[in-house]
Amino acid sequence: MTDSSCPHIAAVKKVTAPKKRECETCVKIGSNWVHLRTCQTCGATLCCDSSPNQHASKHARSAHHPVIASAEPGERWLYCYPDDAFAEY
Ligand SMILES: [Zn+2]
Ligand SMILES: [Zn+2]
Ligand SMILES: [Zn+2]
Repeated sequence: MTDSSCPHIAAVKKVTAPKKRECETCVKIGSNWVHLRTCQTCGATLCCDSSPNQHASKHARSAHHPVIASAEPGERWLYCYPDDAFAEY
């Protein structure tokens, strides 16, 4: 991880993979999602901003967990919400 613009992404030493490929909050409320993201602070897998409920960004704001990784197969990137920083790995 060598994105110098973001200390949060730089601090991710090992990317946390999704435990399950589903948004745990959407499953609880019976909703659905478009893409999945995994929080790199607590490991929660939640839905992206193209999804109706945008649980990943809501979680990032409310829990102050800045960095998510894509949980989509074949996608290898990290994103930091507060810095709007993106890094592939
Ligand atoms: Zn950051
Ligand atoms: Zn969701
Ligand atoms: Zn989290």
